[in-house]
Amino acid sequence: MPPAVSAEVIERWGNDCWLGMPGCTNHSDTTDHIVPHIAGGPTVPANLRRACKHCNSLRGDRTLNGYGALIHAVIGPPAGGKSTYVDMHRQPGAVVLDFDALAKAMMPGSDAEHVTVEWVRRMASGAWYGAYRHMVRVTEPVELWLVKTLPFTPRSPRLLDEWIALDYDITVCDRCR
Ligand SMILES: [Zn+2]
Repeated sequence: MPPAVSAEVIERWGNDCWLGMPGCTNHSDTTDHIVPHIAGGPTVPANLRRACKHCNSLRGDRTLNGYGALIHAVIGPPAGGKSTYVDMHRQPGAVVLDFDALAKAMMPGSDAEHVTVEWVRRMASGAWYGAYRHMVRVTEPVELWLVKTLPFTPRSPRLLDEWIALDYDITVCDRCR
């Protein structure tokens, strides 16, 4: 990042950390691309904001809601009506990553509404997070739905707060029917 460009970014947008993720130091010593460089985002002040090293690294090249994909997240207790909510609100062509749907797909023929076999649930969780890592980097203007009880990873125990910082459209479903 040329120092002159960073100086112009500070001049135009200020020097606060624009991400404000969990653990933010608000000591902005990096310049972040809104549309990631790897996704074709240009290194011009309109596409740049100052960020602390922690948030910049934690965000990585994840898409911000609306800059590429439109990202919805639906969370809430088991059997809270999350899948039903998504079915009622998704647009045609939306891509849905639903933990319960994955778990059910792993036990074809099962009539149970929710899979309770613990090791199958762990398999579904692995599939969910594996797909999630790709999904949150989609830059095409498509609608994405992330559906899970409560999301976290070892690196991101406060993943929901990260999603808020990345401006995801979040719905909490408890008896969403
Ligand atoms: Zn920060």
